[in-house]
Amino acid sequence: MKVTEYFEKANGQTLASFEVLPPLKGGGMQAIFNTLDPLMEFKPPFIDVTYHREEFIYNKRPSGYYEKTAIRKRPGTVGICASIMNRYGVDAVPHLICGGFSKEETENALIDLDFLGVQNVLALRGDARKFDNRFIPEPDGHSYAVELVKQINDINHGRYLDANIEDGAKTDFCIGVAGYPEKHFEAPNFELDLKFTKQKIEAGADFIVTQMFFDNKVYFNYVDACRKAGINVPIIPGLKPITRKYQLNSIPRNFHVNFPTELVNEAEKTDPNNIVELGVEWCIQQSRELKEGGAPCLHYYTMGDAETIRRIVSQVL
Ligand code: FAD
Repeated sequence: MKVTEYFEKANGQTLASFEVLPPLKGGGMQAIFNTLDPLMEFKPPFIDVTYHREEFIYNKRPSGYYEKTAIRKRPGTVGICASIMNRYGVDAVPHLICGGFSKEETENALIDLDFLGVQNVLALRGDARKFDNRFIPEPDGHSYAVELVKQINDINHGRYLDANIEDGAKTDFCIGVAGYPEKHFEAPNFELDLKFTKQKIEAGADFIVTQMFFDNKVYFNYVDACRKAGINVPIIPGLKPITRKYQLNSIPRNFHVNFPTELVNEAEKTDPNNIVELGVEWCIQQSRELKEGGAPCLHYYTMGDAETIRRIVSQVL
């Protein structure tokens, strides 16, 4: 079923969904099951599976020179989606990115997903590669997520890249895109970022999943700004509890979000061994308030930590 249909069916009741990361190469599928098994009691309507493009690593050769090799550390997104649907009978939402994909490869990936019965995708641009100072698309790839949304919308209407394909099979993907309540870090300002987000909706996107945030005001203001801008699709808040003290620095660095003063002050006073308790409590309060405020779904970034997420959701739904 489509993500948006779950919300229609829920009739205003808040749902809980989860995001998992493919295991590092060499790890098995059991890691995903270990994360999801304990969360199934919350009847998630869908599970997101992230996509990780290739990275460059440098191996030292006997000569002393370094050899640059491209490897994908976390492959398996499509297989994990199929496995989740098979084991739990729950819809999987693969993340699809522009980075590393030509339009042809994207089309073939969409065909695979359609044949597998996947009905939802989250369309993203992806970040710049580690040693690039900006996002560089493939020569025949997309530069922005909006172009990927257009391509998915095209195939939904039976329009393939090969113009000779007449009367092509129509897919029926429900398309999600990312939204940034605190602005995407590359955008010159919030208004311009919102304008580009609106373009993704006008191109055919059906729902927005937000970057994580730790102050609900940020989400509620974002929803208001979207509505004023004419963005009327469901906006799903993304949530992650802090579990380690170093995350007070690593999360802003990696995800370009702010921590509210109250949370930082509390964390400073808290024994590092008890930070997880603070993170759980904070996330429970956030979740309850978002539910009260009418969020259609609470989307938890599990990062492989099922127990912490289970503790939170059990106090919220
Ligand atoms: P876009 O919407 O293309 O925006 C990127 C930037 O370009 C923004 O600053 C925007 O304002 C600007 N922009 C957009 N359109 C235009 C235009 N026409 N002209 C000029 N500027 C424009 N990354 C992964 O690699 N794998 C994942 O699985 C993954 N999952 C994610 C899930 C969520 C919920 C979120 C919030 C992010 C995720 N990301 C993932 C990270 C994401 O790929 C990065 O944040 C990336 O930098 C931007 O992706 P986007 O889809 O928002 O890009």
